[in-house]
Amino acid sequence: PDEQPGPKIPPFTSTPVDQIPVIRTGLKNAFRTGRTKSVQFRKQQLLSLAYLVKDNLALFHQALASDLGRSETESIVIEINGTISEAVSAFHNVAKWSKPERAPWSFNFFAMKPTIRKEPKGVVLIISPFNYPMWLLLGPLAGAIAAGNACALKPSEMTPAFSALVADLLPKYLDPELYTVINGAIPETTKVLELQWDHILYTGGSRVGSIVLTAAAKTLSPVTTELGGKSPVVIDPDCDLKLTARRLLWGKVANAGQTCVAPDYALVPKKIADQFIQACKEVLKDFYPEGAESSDSYSRIISPSHFARIKTLLDRTEGKIACGGSTNSETKFIEPTIVTGVKAHDSLMGEEIFGPILPVIEVENEDEAIEFINARDYPLALYVFSPNSSFKEKVAENTQSGAVVMNDTLLHSVVEGLPFGGIGPSGSGYHTGKFSFDMFTHLRSTLDNPSFTERLLWSRYPPYDEKKRKS
Ligand code: NAD
Repeated sequence: PDEQPGPKIPPFTSTPVDQIPVIRTGLKNAFRTGRTKSVQFRKQQLLSLAYLVKDNLALFHQALASDLGRSETESIVIEINGTISEAVSAFHNVAKWSKPERAPWSFNFFAMKPTIRKEPKGVVLIISPFNYPMWLLLGPLAGAIAAGNACALKPSEMTPAFSALVADLLPKYLDPELYTVINGAIPETTKVLELQWDHILYTGGSRVGSIVLTAAAKTLSPVTTELGGKSPVVIDPDCDLKLTARRLLWGKVANAGQTCVAPDYALVPKKIADQFIQACKEVLKDFYPEGAESSDSYSRIISPSHFARIKTLLDRTEGKIACGGSTNSETKFIEPTIVTGVKAHDSLMGEEIFGPILPVIEVENEDEAIEFINARDYPLALYVFSPNSSFKEKVAENTQSGAVVMNDTLLHSVVEGLPFGGIGPSGSGYHTGKFSFDMFTHLRSTLDNPSFTERLLWSRYPPYDEKKRKS
């Protein structure tokens, strides 16, 4: 772009509700011009999307620090790199992804050239949550652009700095008639959801997920939901406890626990529970030698209400705080906390914690762990720490979850070629990379029947006589 964006984050402003239908119509008209059909056009927009992030890193860091108290390194590791990769990978692959596909050869139909055309769905909507404001908004946007759609983006009002920044930058980098930000909270999103969309990607909590699905049912808008849930960790007594604690706790403290695939709770064999807790304490000391509160590597809870919600869960637990536990409502700080002796009915085991608290539930063995998991909703992720293939396979084979990850946490979400998605109450559909392209693509079946096939097809026409029946 000729014009460099200004150095400041503008104030957050909501889109006027009465403008929302006008925006939708504008997107439809821009889509109908047909310019998104060109792969060259899509590539140029994808490149601009990557530059939108790269050129403005300092502003994005400032916004993410203001909204989430994030360190620059954490933002780069957990979402900025992933967002740029989504745009760059789509740039490199869009020509291949969007090529028409011939149906398998068959004697009866090959002359008709049966083909799948990969066509844009049309005007799509992306609604994203606060916790990974960039990755969950601009990542899927790369898929929507690659598939040739026009797109409205509805970021979270809980990240006002990020949402205002992206609304300011988008028209400077991308075609403003085709891609636009609608900012706002419940009234604006409610208006958005009264309109028909050719696809909606909703990422967020299950309560709002139901609201989105109900609204979409009225307009017959297809929806992909990326929801949350309680992702369990199963631990084999044979595992390397220090390494397990380090990888598990990284998943728990990243973004102060506000990660949809954060390990929610740990199912730990009784006989190693004390050693596991000890390993966790040592790891937290390694992560934050002077304590998490003074560390500039540790994020804050997004809002006073989320802070109060998590603190209430902690205050009500019947478990024992083995380490951590301190909080500061002024700064929305919650210390990484391990709670032991947690039972199935505990306050920490009702809803997704979405904060830096790890309940430890003692079990006799993996069978009890599997039974515990299967008595609950299918989680978004399931983590297994074990050096033994039979242990890992047993847990994977006997449970269901969006993803199952052995000996690490979170990483599956950034591995190119792996779909990201839940199952049942943790969501439906997939995104990232080609899966985002597919989500926003209509597979349009086509065939073109030449006249000479009449010699083969004559028997389909009435009147149906004996000769035709036998042919
Ligand atoms: P949320 O459900 O509160 O908000 C998500 C979006 O919905 C926001 O854009 C918000 O403005 C909008 N919204 C809120 N209330 C609404 C209403 N009444 N009507 C219409 N729209 C409304 O989610 P959140 O708190 O921002 O995010 C946390 C949740 O998201 C957690 O449950 C987490 O697990 C989940 N999540 C899931 C994934 C995934 O990929 N599966 C990724 C990140 C977060």
